[in-house]
Amino acid sequence: MKKKQTLSVLVSVVAVSMLVVPARTDDAKPATIALIKSTITADAIRADVAELSSDEMGGRFFRSPFAEKAAKWVQARFELIGLAPGAASDSYRQAIDQNPESGPNMIAAYPGIGEGFIIVSSHYDHLRPKRTGEDKIFNGADDNASGVAATLAVARAIKACTKAGDGVGCTIIFIAFNGEEAGLLGSSAYAKSPTVPLGQIRGVFNMDMISRGPPREIFIDGGKVGAPVVAALKKANESIGLKLRLDEHPDWLDRSDQGPFLAKKVPAVLFSVEDHEDYHQVSDEVEKIDASLAAEVAQLVALTAINMSREPFTPRAEFIKAVKAAEPAKAAEPAKAAEPIQTESTKPLPTIP
Ligand SMILES: [Zn+2]
Repeated sequence: MKKKQTLSVLVSVVAVSMLVVPARTDDAKPATIALIKSTITADAIRADVAELSSDEMGGRFFRSPFAEKAAKWVQARFELIGLAPGAASDSYRQAIDQNPESGPNMIAAYPGIGEGFIIVSSHYDHLRPKRTGEDKIFNGADDNASGVAATLAVARAIKACTKAGDGVGCTIIFIAFNGEEAGLLGSSAYAKSPTVPLGQIRGVFNMDMISRGPPREIFIDGGKVGAPVVAALKKANESIGLKLRLDEHPDWLDRSDQGPFLAKKVPAVLFSVEDHEDYHQVSDEVEKIDASLAAEVAQLVALTAINMSREPFTPRAEFIKAVKAAEPAKAAEPAKAAEPIQTESTKPLPTIP
């Protein structure tokens, strides 16, 4: 993640939080919460972080064979979990630009039958090796193998809960973005050419650096647009018990992959820790991570995603119309009243055997 001090300028949609989160009637059962906790373990997180942040991955830097190697690793994990291809009916790979060497976003889906979509994301790219020094490779264990490992852990848990009969309503999309460190290139490409209509996305959970700092404590930032997701997270956290540091870093809102979604008024949040001594250093290695913290963040995301996926859903286009109708004064203002409404049709997703 790139953490500059620039304050983000996000145009807020009026009263977002008041209309998007309806009353819950069907949250996950206690047995399902227990299943999430037993499925998402620190050991599983640590094992995935160890592989993805190994020296063999060469820093996974954008436009390199190492990023491609990492992409193949992500695809193998998606396949092992049993996720459907999410970029196209037969592909997990979404090109970021015309350059064939850029390397793809990796996208998978766990199909549900309800309306709308939820995205769980992280970036898998990191930094180009140093030219000198004994240790040249930026392993990026916290930044952001931790987020990718958590994304995979959420997928495993969601599948387990659904198989156990108390899982997701709508389809959950899992994305490992490329090109984040090069300037949010992967997530910007996705927001420009989304695989599902942006107006149909209920929420985006973006994890970027989630395994360092004080135990059981995580920063969550979504601003006004992300408020509905934050509300759902706070409620689910009653069963997880993390210390949530909410909306303390508005300057982070456009510094990771939730940014391009928020800019298009898609409710999205960032999970992250504070910058630490190994941030963007070759010493960001697996031995230093708190895998328990990453596991607990993943548990919170899995539970919140399951609960949100079962709620009644107002597609974004209708929502924006409702806001405009309810606020005649605002609606009468010229231009910039609403985001262009997405009209592309939803791609059919294959079912999981
Ligand atoms: Zn990062």
